[in-house]
Amino acid sequence: MRLLVLFVVVSCISLTAQKVRDASHLTPNGKGWGEDRDNAPPEARPFAVTTGNGISYHGGPVMSASPVPVYFIWYGNWNSTGSNSATTVNLIENYLYSGSGLNYSGYENINTTYGDSTHNVSGGVQFTSGNDWFPGYPNGTRLRDATIQTIVSNYISQKQGGAGDTNGIYFVLTSSDVTETSGFCTKYCGWHTRGTIGGRDIKYSFVGNPDRCPSACEAQTNSPNGDSGADGMASIMAHETEEAISDPDLNAWYDSSGYENADKCAWKWGPTTGTVGNGGYNQTLAGKHWLIQMNWENARGGGCDQMLGGTFYTH
Ligand SMILES: [Zn+2]
Repeated sequence: MRLLVLFVVVSCISLTAQKVRDASHLTPNGKGWGEDRDNAPPEARPFAVTTGNGISYHGGPVMSASPVPVYFIWYGNWNSTGSNSATTVNLIENYLYSGSGLNYSGYENINTTYGDSTHNVSGGVQFTSGNDWFPGYPNGTRLRDATIQTIVSNYISQKQGGAGDTNGIYFVLTSSDVTETSGFCTKYCGWHTRGTIGGRDIKYSFVGNPDRCPSACEAQTNSPNGDSGADGMASIMAHETEEAISDPDLNAWYDSSGYENADKCAWKWGPTTGTVGNGGYNQTLAGKHWLIQMNWENARGGGCDQMLGGTFYTH
């Protein structure tokens, strides 16, 4: 009897995801990370790198621009009502990612505990007016992973003459009538990765409007800003932002389970400091209240907190 052995080639989807709420035991989609956790040679552990806090350094770069610029591609219809509206866009662009929003906040400064051979993370992240795009639906309403990179590439062609910003993060944000077929709402609420676009190493992220699946991707139905799209996206975008900055090429900072810094605190908030319209919040940035998941601080033994040097909470 002859035995036919089939070798199944499992393709690696090199992205890493913000899991949906109730899938706490899924591993990120970036595959094989646990295998090389101890392979970084001593010379790859420079002065800017602190270890021993529950997350390991693997030799790759961090993003160190001060601030890191963000670019927003509002795919679909963002000129509708409710959480697919100009109000939603305004909350994200001109409050959350304004100069006095996340930028150099106590929350964002948690990320300054990460570094690479030459730089520490700055704690700055900022949107600049004009660095956005409203393309409509040029690729339909069912997007694949590869389509997301195409959309980013089209932005860079249309808005930046084909020369993308290697120091920035490109967000593809979809209105609630759009899906991402590799698992939006079932496996993840957002993800980040990198791709070579125009010969450059471009970091980008997908975040869908969580109004598409509130039970999976929104922490609460009563949101502090009365806009469940913006309020739900804020926490997921913060998650992807901190990971894209500390692990932009998926080869810098993650733990033995393949969890990046924000993965280690996914859907963990710590205590709320108040409520607005029955919506709890734990951050006040640029005069707006937000409920944003905590991030992993790479100091003091490691833990999830709401601001650099703050109290560690486990839920
Ligand atoms: Zn993540």
